[in-house]
Amino acid sequence: MARFIEVLEVAPRDGLQMQPQPLPTAAKVELVQRLLGAGLGRIEVTSFVNPKKVPQMADAEALLAALPRPPGVYLTGLVMNQRGFERAVAAGCNEIGMVVVASDTFNRRNQGVSTAESIDAWLAIAPAAHAAGVRPQVTVSAAFGCPFEGEVPLDRVVEIAERVAAGKPREICFADTIGVGVPAQVSALIARAKARIPGVPLRCHFHNTRNTGFANAFAAIEAGVQALDASVGGIGGCPFAPAASGNIATEDLVYMLERSGVGTGVDLEALIDTARWLEQALGVSAPGMLMKAGAFPKRAAPAAA
Ligand code: ZN
Repeated sequence: MARFIEVLEVAPRDGLQMQPQPLPTAAKVELVQRLLGAGLGRIEVTSFVNPKKVPQMADAEALLAALPRPPGVYLTGLVMNQRGFERAVAAGCNEIGMVVVASDTFNRRNQGVSTAESIDAWLAIAPAAHAAGVRPQVTVSAAFGCPFEGEVPLDRVVEIAERVAAGKPREICFADTIGVGVPAQVSALIARAKARIPGVPLRCHFHNTRNTGFANAFAAIEAGVQALDASVGGIGGCPFAPAASGNIATEDLVYMLERSGVGTGVDLEALIDTARWLEQALGVSAPGMLMKAGAFPKRAAPAAA
């Protein structure tokens, strides 16, 4: 099993996008600063989508302009098309995440075109991103099930991954957008993807909607993914998944991994503090567990000078 897993923090984008009240830009800046301070080196900070459809992300450019950019840190912007890509580059993202939805119906609802058209868009964006010095990666969404079409055939997901791999993405991420996946599905998909697109780094994105998110995360690591998405406090949701819980909580994931001998480079106490701060800032109750139970074992209090 991997000795180190990279955590891509998605709270500022996936976590916030369903919050009914927009979080002020200054608070988003503080959130990202706290996440950087906790040791997270890769953060999905916003999405470049139509602000009328996702009002929470309307401040994408203003946010990027206000964020610190420590060397070696990747600030990722999610994009659905060429227009979003151009905005992300202009705003100064050094990584973009393109979305291709595995089911055609969901892709049309999400980005107004077919899955095949989104793959074509990615294959045009990818070389432009490489030329602009922006690291591009792709998420295959609804890879474990679709709210409109139901089961998504594994063969279709792998075929999409194979097609997007032609654009030389930094990695391909398989997302359980509506939180329906189970570990056996994860193991099967990752094994098949590794065989079909060897050498392409893989990442997974899980929601804990049906309480399988952490089991899925562990299965993904055992199957050989190098990175996982997570959202501090477990905040988040999906507009097409009623009663959806958020992404797996970053601090709960880090706890599980570190105590299993898998390093993350993240400071757990700083993350728990951030989860509690975010809950206050949003005025909502977050589903994360460690923010309530605390870490274990307790860290010794600093010695008095
Ligand atoms: Zn998500």
